[in-house]
Amino acid sequence: MEERLSSILEGVRSARGRVLVLTGAGISAESGIPTFRGRDGYWVVGSRNYIPQEMATREMFERAPEEVWRWYLYRFGVCKHAEPNAGHAALVALEAALGDRFTLVTQNIDGLHRRAGSRRVFTIHGDAAWVRCAGGCGGLRDLPPVEVRSKDEPLSAAQRSALTCPGCGGWLRPHVLWFDEYYDEENYRMDSALRAAGSAGLLLVVGTSGATSLPMEIGRIAFDRGIALVDVNPEENPFAELARASPRGFAARGSAVERLPEIARALGA
Ligand SMILES: [Zn+2]
Repeated sequence: MEERLSSILEGVRSARGRVLVLTGAGISAESGIPTFRGRDGYWVVGSRNYIPQEMATREMFERAPEEVWRWYLYRFGVCKHAEPNAGHAALVALEAALGDRFTLVTQNIDGLHRRAGSRRVFTIHGDAAWVRCAGGCGGLRDLPPVEVRSKDEPLSAAQRSALTCPGCGGWLRPHVLWFDEYYDEENYRMDSALRAAGSAGLLLVVGTSGATSLPMEIGRIAFDRGIALVDVNPEENPFAELARASPRGFAARGSAVERLPEIARALGA
């Protein structure tokens, strides 16, 4: 491990500081889950090709709920067959060592952190495991066992019925934040995530490009507070820039699987 990184982590460990980990698509990519941006996420409705930023919207769901559901069920099927990797496992070990001093904020909806065994997790973009009423009645329910294996397969009557809210007869929706919606506390734990950034002694950012606003705000809070700030990513990204500009920051090149086990050990795991 680089000497500067080692000394930053040792400082956090000896101060018994809180650790906030922020993860993005990079850690899931190492489990074989595509980003679903670009070509991976294209979906044909009628004669048109839609990109994810058009499919993952409330507007599209209101216009074509069945198409949006088929797209999600196809994606969720990919997630379900993926397995957590050594990066996820390192964060479970770190949580076991730190207990309540550990918080994980993830942008990933694939549930891999939960399946690996992480418990103190805020899923700020939702979680594929759950659905809720699109009309707003009731709380979260488990995703019914509906699978779409091919992009061409229409929903059966039984599948449509499984995706119907028993309370009001309207559609259930995936418990995910859409591009034309806003972060909130009730569904996406926005305030909790920001509070964690306000009390952390280390922000560890893993595999995210910072394309969305709440993760960038978390990075900005950490930078302004002058806490330790470590970015793990094989590629250049805005968090790496923040880390390099920070007095106790380090941009660690490499993937989650390559770097997280040694980082977790240095923090006491
Ligand atoms: Zn309902």
